[in-house]
Amino acid sequence: MLVLRSNRDAADIATAMFDHGIDPLDRLEQASRALNDLEKRFVDTPTALTHSGALQSDDGAALLTGLTDIVGSVRGAIGSLPDGDLTHQLDTLLYSINRLRTADGDVTHRFVKRELADIVRDVEGAINVIRRDLIAMRDLSLRERQAIDRAVLAGGASGLVIGLLLLAYLSRSISRPIRNAASALRMVGGGAMAGKGALPGDMMVDLEAAIRFVETVIENKDRSSRLQKNSSAAHLLATVERQQKRLRVALDALRKPLCLVDDKGRLTDANQEFLRLFPGLRAGTAVASWSEHPGLAAALLAGTEDEVLELEDGSSCRIRCHSNPIDNGIIAVFDELAGEESAQRELERLTLQDSLTGLPNRDAFYNALQKALHTGADPISVFVIDVVAFKNINTTLGLIAGDDLLRQVGERLRTLAGPDSITARLAGDEFGLILPGAGEAMGPERFGRGIVQDFARRPIAVAGRPLTIRLAVGVVPDIAPGGGMDARTVMRDCEIALETAKKRSTDPFCVYAPEIQKEHQRRQDMERDLREALTRSEFELHFQPFVDSKRRRVSGFEALVRWNSPTRGRVSPGVFIPIMEETGLIVSLGQFVLRDACRQAARWPEGLSLSINLSPRQFDSGNIVADVRDILAETKLDPKRLQLEVTESLFLSDADKVLDILNALRRMGITISMDDFGTGYSSLGYLSRFPFDKIKIDQSFVRDLTRRENMAIVRAVLGLGASMKLSVIAEGVETVEQMRVLESEGCEEMQGYLFSPPRPASDLAKILVEVREGFQDGRFGPSTPLDAPSAALRA
Ligand code: C2E
Ligand code: CA
Ligand code: CA
Repeated sequence: MLVLRSNRDAADIATAMFDHGIDPLDRLEQASRALNDLEKRFVDTPTALTHSGALQSDDGAALLTGLTDIVGSVRGAIGSLPDGDLTHQLDTLLYSINRLRTADGDVTHRFVKRELADIVRDVEGAINVIRRDLIAMRDLSLRERQAIDRAVLAGGASGLVIGLLLLAYLSRSISRPIRNAASALRMVGGGAMAGKGALPGDMMVDLEAAIRFVETVIENKDRSSRLQKNSSAAHLLATVERQQKRLRVALDALRKPLCLVDDKGRLTDANQEFLRLFPGLRAGTAVASWSEHPGLAAALLAGTEDEVLELEDGSSCRIRCHSNPIDNGIIAVFDELAGEESAQRELERLTLQDSLTGLPNRDAFYNALQKALHTGADPISVFVIDVVAFKNINTTLGLIAGDDLLRQVGERLRTLAGPDSITARLAGDEFGLILPGAGEAMGPERFGRGIVQDFARRPIAVAGRPLTIRLAVGVVPDIAPGGGMDARTVMRDCEIALETAKKRSTDPFCVYAPEIQKEHQRRQDMERDLREALTRSEFELHFQPFVDSKRRRVSGFEALVRWNSPTRGRVSPGVFIPIMEETGLIVSLGQFVLRDACRQAARWPEGLSLSINLSPRQFDSGNIVADVRDILAETKLDPKRLQLEVTESLFLSDADKVLDILNALRRMGITISMDDFGTGYSSLGYLSRFPFDKIKIDQSFVRDLTRRENMAIVRAVLGLGASMKLSVIAEGVETVEQMRVLESEGCEEMQGYLFSPPRPASDLAKILVEVREGFQDGRFGPSTPLDAPSAALRA
């Protein structure tokens, strides 16, 4: 019976048909052998006959058993033969045998002889018919196999094979669920296929197509059995061809994408639905070359049994591969995800994808890393990449340009990393990269430096202009999977390497090593100590005077914080302030400085100003305007006596917000001073855009005024101050010579070791006296009469 029970049956259909012929042939040959025995007995040994010609009783019994055996064999042959001329013929034969068998005692020798000869002839005839058909079927089988081989060699597909395979596969695995679905549909739709509103339209179309398909399959099966009944090989071939065409039509009508891939990884055939889903794919092409469908290629090559596949358009479907024994390849069937599952996938996709760049996000990266570390085969290197001064770009060019830049950076990183790697956007301007096969020609160090160089050499066009992007890269190289490293540790080490890289302004690249971890540990220890220092009040304010050289007196003091650590001794603010800025601890410290300095300054003589340094972080978090207002009210310090020093780095953050804050502070009567002027860039731009009252010339220019460019800068700043009606102060004045030059250039306010280093609050009265005396006794140059009496500190 030609029912396709499995793929194997289908694949060997021709052989199976051959086998179907073998059984009746065997049985008839058995019958033929029994007949020969009988013939020997009754035809070749006449002595066994009575003289009247009637059979002797032994002979009669032998004939009866012999014929009974033959009847059994012929019946068996008929049973295993399909209905047809031959079975009819054998039926007649059976009738003759039975007639002979049931003949009464008067059966004569001659009668038996004649009847046996007839029977032998008929059996032999039947055997010949079967033999002939078998040979025809074997030839057909060979032809088919050759056709398959040719098709496989040519990389194309044999429609016949596909038809049979799919018939087998589909009739087995699809027809039942579809039949069920169809009957459910019929019930819902009140027996009519077009039960409008009963099911969503798409589903209706699918079901209709499916039912049509199943009907075709069933019809083909019927045809197969009919085909078997007609044992003519030519007819068989024609039928198979027709069946193949029908299958092609049926497959294309099926709303389920299907494809076949051979053992060499080539697409041998696909239905129209598949080609609609993956346009541009052609039969005969290597799956591995489908760079535009990497997920599909991977699933097909892996022969995945059941997996959800992310499509390029963001949707997903289920792919199931079934083995295809014909060429050791696979048949892949694609299913739409059911509504709920699809929504779930979409949700997962959204939560694992960065919406800006379309790259995997931090969670997805973390998962991929975890997987690579636990189940991966190859060592990997993990990179964390930061766009240097991205904030600056974002502020200068705007958010849209910033977004565009991030997209382009992500895309370029992905291209540079290649298809075997994973590129993700971890946060803001931070990207992550998992590179397999570490330690090869393209080692992690070379690759890391390579990407830094690539970005340095090839500018990115943003908002219509080329921008050279600097990257900082931290890498944890050559991690062997299963070596006990977990994703959390790797990510932490990467961040440590990146932090170190960011500090190396000329070569912002760092490979993680244990020493780096030690340095990091030192910083962490200090951070911990600083936190404790805040709660234990280990900070103290020192004050350094501003000197009005024209009036020869102290005009005010800058508050400079000191840390008296019980374990570390006195730590320089140059060391701990950057750490506090990084960690945000500066916000609490800043509040302490503000409150304590204002509280002290409120007790100073009138006319002495207080200058306080503000960190950009204080503008980001908390409400600096409210804090200042509250502290001024609380300490009763006149806002006109307060100066706040800010640096240019402040403008790297949200410029509009900074502008609002500075304006609000100024409205309160506070003086805004730009510290370290000239050390950043585009200072002039900031000066004109933001409301400053004062500029502080950085000590680096004051230090060497014999250098012409420093002198030029000092002159320019003083000129600028005059034209913009801003006061100017020079810091870092250490010598009388420097003071003289500054004075001659028109700088009236100065600060520096020449007058006094920062000193504790208890020394302030002394400083006032020392500075007055310094002017009087000519220590700051030749003594000149005072314009105004120096202010005295009321103790
Ligand atoms: P800065 O605001 O530029 O402060 C001036 C620094 O120059 C002070 O260092 C001061 O001692 C030093 N200095 C003053 N005159 C001279 C001189 O004639 N020659 C030389 N070579 N140096 C001189 P200090 O006190 O170590 O402070 C370092 C930095 O720490 C400050 O630079 C400031 O940026 C930061 N800082 C200090 N206190 C605070 C604070 O309360 N808040 C914030 N946000 N930052 C602070
Ligand atoms: Ca300062
Ligand atoms: Ca300064």
